Amino acid sequence: MSAQIGVTGLAVMGANLARNLARNGYTVALHNRSVEKTDALLDKHGDEGDFVRTETLQELVDSLEKPRRVLIMVKAGAPVDSVIDQLEPLLEPGDIVIDAGNSHYEDTRRREAALAKKDLHFVGVGVSGGEEGALLGPSIMPGGSRESYDSLGPMLEKISAKYNGEPCCRWVGTDGAGHFVKMVHNGIEYADMQVIGEAYDVLRTAAGIEPAEQAKIFTDWNTGTLSSFLIEITAEVLAHTDARTGKPFVDVVVDSAGQKGTGRWTVVSALELGSPTSGIAESVFARGLSSQRGQRELAQEILQGHEGSVDLPEDFVEDVRLALYASKLVSYAQGIDMLTAAAGEYGWELKLDEIASLWRAGCIIRAELLDDIMKAYAAEEKPANLLLAPAFAESIAGAVPAWRRVVAAAVQLGIPVPVFSSSLAYYDGLRRKRLPAALTQGLRDLFGAHTYNRVDADGTFHTLWGEDRSEVEAVDTH
Ligand code: NAP
Repeated sequence: MSAQIGVTGLAVMGANLARNLARNGYTVALHNRSVEKTDALLDKHGDEGDFVRTETLQELVDSLEKPRRVLIMVKAGAPVDSVIDQLEPLLEPGDIVIDAGNSHYEDTRRREAALAKKDLHFVGVGVSGGEEGALLGPSIMPGGSRESYDSLGPMLEKISAKYNGEPCCRWVGTDGAGHFVKMVHNGIEYADMQVIGEAYDVLRTAAGIEPAEQAKIFTDWNTGTLSSFLIEITAEVLAHTDARTGKPFVDVVVDSAGQKGTGRWTVVSALELGSPTSGIAESVFARGLSSQRGQRELAQEILQGHEGSVDLPEDFVEDVRLALYASKLVSYAQGIDMLTAAAGEYGWELKLDEIASLWRAGCIIRAELLDDIMKAYAAEEKPANLLLAPAFAESIAGAVPAWRRVVAAAVQLGIPVPVFSSSLAYYDGLRRKRLPAALTQGLRDLFGAHTYNRVDADGTFHTLWGEDRSEVEAVDTH
């Protein structure tokens, strides 16, 4: 029996993707560096579909129909290079190597270019949805050549999550585009979780609403514009009581948030692209600060807060909902803006409506909002920024007074709300007629002759600060 696809790397993600493929009718060849994982999968789930057991990569390759499709699902980083190096001499021109792990998009670009020289297709695929998604239908973001998608796309679309029957899988662009889009997805996920955390903190600290009560509020919010997987599970976590102590679960968990690195990658990449992705950056920094437990303990003894008191408006809960909505929207706008910047930098023809459509089901940031975002970018006239799409410009404007009240109250009460406040600053920065960047330019010209442009004339200028302060035309070298 020849298999339609081979999977190498059968830890939880690879095993679940292999099972998903088999459950959807494909014959799947199985391989893992150590054969125990292959046999464990076959023992437990061998009856779920047609599997071919292999012990070596040569056996795996020999078991596949041509052109071959080999999906690598091993630990990201050096192991992916090692598996590619072993596979490459066993393959033939036209074969497709797929990396569906969380690889950095620059690695994917490098690997794609190297394998293209050998006439092999290398497809970096972003997969979101965790273990359960991999088994039941993840959101899938494939890159690589357009041609490879003709052979691979139908399989990936079949095993992907569906939103109203539409697959959450589309070819997003060449070489590393798939992994880039997945990286930004993860960055948005960081921001989404941080704004939820800020809403929880404000509701608890400013308004004294206990977790169990907040669970009901989040359940209610999940029926409106905030409806999403993360809001749904927030209600679940807040409603949970610790069996050992009888306390709210959230009170017995150490308040240091971990990270595996994709948020950091997003911020590094945003900085390199010059894309103002402040919400995602603040989310990554917030996790970093939460993890500095030693410094935090000392600061609790030493640093004074001088918190004031605040008269909260009657419908403060609704204010917080609106602040959360507006800040979340800004994070999505910034993430999407970063995609636009990357498309220009790497020559990807990213279709923003299609990318938003992929995130509507299967992935961690799945949300009703994404359907509206998709529609905004499907419109004939594409918005220059998500916030400028007519529907969103209107909805965020409606949230602004509440957003300002919540940020002001949090500041007065000493509650850190880095994403609520930086998102509001981004919003104001975007809409402000004059920014103090004019003064920055003046300073740069004085200390470094960096030159400036004038509002009333074309050209580039420099003031002779050390001489008579007259202005001269300059050649712009920056
Ligand atoms: P993992 O723990 O990242 O990796 C374990 C697998 O990699 C095992 O099959 C292991 O083989 C293999 N491996 C490690 N080093 C190897 C090497 N040098 N050569 C060959 N094989 C090697 O597995 P995972 O959690 O299933 O994740 C797989 C990929 O999916 C990762 O890139 C991960 O970031 C990504 N991902 C994970 C999730 C999730 O929720 N876990 C979600 C999305 C994406 P042995 O059994 O022989 O040790």
